[in-house]
Amino acid sequence: MLEIVTQVRTHLEYQKALGVTVVESRVVPASAAAVAAQPVIEPIKAAGPAPVEPGEKEAVTEAQSPRLPSGTLSMVREELGECTRCKLSKGRNTIVFGEGDPSAAIVFIGEGPGQEEDQQGRPFVGAAGQLLTDIIVKGMKLRREDVYICNIVKCRPPENRNPEADEIAACEPFLIKQVQAIKPKIIVALGNVAVKTLLRTKEGITSLRGKWKTYQGIPLMPTFHPAYLLRTPGDKKLVWADIQQVMEKMEKG
Ligand code: URA
Repeated sequence: MLEIVTQVRTHLEYQKALGVTVVESRVVPASAAAVAAQPVIEPIKAAGPAPVEPGEKEAVTEAQSPRLPSGTLSMVREELGECTRCKLSKGRNTIVFGEGDPSAAIVFIGEGPGQEEDQQGRPFVGAAGQLLTDIIVKGMKLRREDVYICNIVKCRPPENRNPEADEIAACEPFLIKQVQAIKPKIIVALGNVAVKTLLRTKEGITSLRGKWKTYQGIPLMPTFHPAYLLRTPGDKKLVWADIQQVMEKMEKG
């Protein structure tokens, strides 16, 4: 019972962060568990038209984006607290909130902390993190501190499995608030989990990468995850092409 209440609460917090403040009485879900189990790719019912096709249009458009008071990152961190909103809290060592410039022009969003990140409480500090750092420092000629780096979920999934829908739903309101606080010019979504979550699509990263999308009205570039590049170094050139597009857009302002 407690679990159902937690799941419903999580779902409502998620909807609230997306700007849904009214629950229509004619929408009667089959069960509370069914509500909580709804996939994150569901169209947002906050306002405005639903996406025409999955993958064709972002689910959270500028018009639909939450109209929450835009707090600072530290307010968001404070609200998150010692989070126990989902089951990932049980196995984590440290919450990996995100790090970097609180008014960064570019935000990188990965999937979730791995073992090293969970130990250190910092995003992308393991082997994949070193590659991301190289992309930022050697490729983009920026410092890591000049950008902001975070993840879809803030706690390490066991055995580095993909985060599950309920875990993403519990965490995404905080990611949305982080993005609202930072107000970046560009988001770079790293890998399948980030891209599918943010764009509410089932389309895979291989077809989406390199094509501009938007998230909350912010241009978003999908690209491969650095961990994938460690396994498939031949695709680094594709990521470099995507990053060059990011740099060109930055230069144009
Ligand atoms: N992979 C991610 O997606 N995020 C991290 O923080 C580290 C590895």
